[in-house]
Amino acid sequence: MVVKEIGTPEAARFRQDINRRIAGQVEKCYQCGKCSAGCPIANEMDLMPNQVIRLVQIGLKDKATHCRSIWLCAGCVTCTTRCPQEVEIASVMEAVRHVAIEEGVEPPPEVRHTATFTEVFLRSVRRHGRIFEPGMVMGFNLRSCQPMKDAEKGPKMFLKGKLNLLPHRVKDRGPVRRIFQRLVPKL
Ligand code: SF4
Ligand code: SF4
Repeated sequence: MVVKEIGTPEAARFRQDINRRIAGQVEKCYQCGKCSAGCPIANEMDLMPNQVIRLVQIGLKDKATHCRSIWLCAGCVTCTTRCPQEVEIASVMEAVRHVAIEEGVEPPPEVRHTATFTEVFLRSVRRHGRIFEPGMVMGFNLRSCQPMKDAEKGPKMFLKGKLNLLPHRVKDRGPVRRIFQRLVPKL
């Protein structure tokens, strides 16, 4: 089967975009599969990590940004540490996910909550420099249409001093903002 996107300027642009975001080279991957063999989430994924890398290499943005795997990746970096070619696979998974978020790609229904959590988490870090748990949980519950989820745990955690009602922002949020501007400008 001939895929008409391969070899087009758009395909090259996608590959270059991912390389820029990870400050590396996906071209170095020679498809040995070691990354996928060690991935603890692989049995839930629709595409193995090495297959996602291959899609990036050949520039198939649509296929890469629409797969379930980029939302399920836990960022554990087992794949990255195993790669004989020092490809930053965990970062590639994240970079493709960022492209999907920027382009408004709807995650598959079965991982929609995971995608929502990722987005709410990143927004909290961008805003405060670290996560603000109550705000993040409320944001997630509202966005995922389950407003009372885990609500009973809030008072208990508060009484044990585990919950701050106001965010503790980092002193200098400039570097965090710059990271977001460079990596996920449209979040
Ligand atoms: S371990 Fe590295 S070289 Fe091997 S398939 Fe994965 S990314 Fe490619
Ligand atoms: S970082 Fe993601 S792709 Fe890599 S081993 Fe962990 S879960 Fe799998």
